[in-house]
Amino acid sequence: MMRAILMGPPGAGKGTQAEMLIEHFKIPHISTGDMFRTAIKERTPLGLKAKEYMDSGALVPDEVTIGIVADRLAQADCLNGFLLDGFPRTAAQADALAKILSDLNMGLDGIINIEVEDAILLERLTGRRVCKQCSSTFHTVYHPSKEQGVCDKCGGELYQRSDDTLETAQNRLKVYNDQTEPLIAYYSEQGRLKRIQGDQEIGQVFRDVLDVLE
Ligand code: ADP
Ligand code: AMP
Repeated sequence: MMRAILMGPPGAGKGTQAEMLIEHFKIPHISTGDMFRTAIKERTPLGLKAKEYMDSGALVPDEVTIGIVADRLAQADCLNGFLLDGFPRTAAQADALAKILSDLNMGLDGIINIEVEDAILLERLTGRRVCKQCSSTFHTVYHPSKEQGVCDKCGGELYQRSDDTLETAQNRLKVYNDQTEPLIAYYSEQGRLKRIQGDQEIGQVFRDVLDVLE
């Protein structure tokens, strides 16, 4: 059983760590960003709503985001745990999450904050490549796929996210600092936040995260 939240600025390595953590703990990965990207690809009403915000690097409105997470956490596969990645991102989302979990009679085992400085984040975001098929994440320099443009895991095609341009990435960091960074204080005051140094090799970050979770 592991119920955890992965926090940290865009590019901190949440998705990369999540890929390994969900294998380790055998729990579902709940990434609101992935859910929105899937909805956009499938042209659902949710995708249509989310797209304009994501394109500019803004946050999707709370009422939309909270609804999809509430529905997802109520699904049967979350009974044995889950890993939230990229949610909560606002104070309203954090309050809503507390209520959702208490309604479901669930607690949290870990809240992890991966810390990385802005200059490194921009390099990571602009060099990120993602698999179209399985969403595995690579980096042109720091975590290259074995064959350029091809996913190591499933052979799918790698692409660059449209919000990973320098301009939109800068905007996302600003949105993070304004709206999400204050949650660090909210969870630290509750004495529940574990801080991880994210500017280390991917495997070392993973070992540090496991250390604080286990
Ligand atoms: P997030 O989900 O927090 O936005 P990602 O996991 O997608 O971040 O990582 C952003 C980029 O940085 C990706 O290209 C990834 O391959 C790379 N990356 C992740 N962790 C590290 C690390 N510890 N060192 C160097 N690059 C990393
Ligand atoms: P991510 O995949 O976590 O980098 O998220 C990509 C984009 O999806 C963000 O820039 C937001 O536009 C949107 N998004 C993801 N998670 C949330 C959230 N919890 N609240 C609002 N918007 C979100």
